Amino acid sequence: MLVDYHIHTNHSIDGEMTIDEACIKAINLGIKEIAFTDHIDLDWPDPEFDFDTIDLEKYFTDIEKNKTKYKGQLKIKAGIEIGLQPHVLNETAKIIEDYPFDFVIGSVHIIQRMDPYRGKYYIGKTKEEIYRLYYEETLRLIEDFSHFDVLGHIGYIKRYSPLPYNKEDELLHLDLIDEIFKVLIKKGKGIEVNTSGYRHVSNCPMPPLELIMRYRELGGNIITLGSDSHKLDDFGFGLKSGLETIMQAGFDQITTFTNRKPYFHRIRKKE
Ligand SMILES: [Zn+2]
Ligand SMILES: [Zn+2]
Repeated sequence: MLVDYHIHTNHSIDGEMTIDEACIKAINLGIKEIAFTDHIDLDWPDPEFDFDTIDLEKYFTDIEKNKTKYKGQLKIKAGIEIGLQPHVLNETAKIIEDYPFDFVIGSVHIIQRMDPYRGKYYIGKTKEEIYRLYYEETLRLIEDFSHFDVLGHIGYIKRYSPLPYNKEDELLHLDLIDEIFKVLIKKGKGIEVNTSGYRHVSNCPMPPLELIMRYRELGGNIITLGSDSHKLDDFGFGLKSGLETIMQAGFDQITTFTNRKPYFHRIRKKE
């Protein structure tokens, strides 16, 4: 069963497609279920971008309208991708409590008030430090926060790194990654397989196969699949490979969410 559980639309400032356009493309690609996950990143440090919030009333209305329009053809879920920073956790939790989201991705986009996309984060750091700081921050945040369902794009820090990529980079700090997985598992949270990694020089999902296997070995069973697309051209990109990777890691089910509850679906080849 093909699903896409990580989609940004023009309700976020960095999204280009409409909800309607995404639904049509999903149906054309044979995707059975999608979750829109536009951004809320409270107190984004860079004044040039406003990821702080979106018009949630408009967002839910638009999703409902398309649910009716494509009923019987496509299952549509109302999700959100929240950016975690230590000082905004309470405020973010309140938003999650106040709205009827089906699914919440918790992501680390900002580390110590620095946006990796802008490059400053990497200055003066070795590769080892780049990853360590990111994982340490992630661990602290998921220990302190529970209003999410899956941890977004593990290994995100590679996306904008100016240092040359090596496959081994993915396996730096396995001790910290194990701790992250253990906290997630203990809290009943999952991971996502984010196929935007196939658009990166690493050409593998975030996280890569080895880490997905490790999550499973430690007892993890909640795993979603998403393209993290912001425009129609990227929509659905890598989903089939991502699903293959999930199977290769030993999973025979993937997870979808309704009203923040996980549902498990058997995955088979040729679907
Ligand atoms: Zn993200
Ligand atoms: Zn995203």
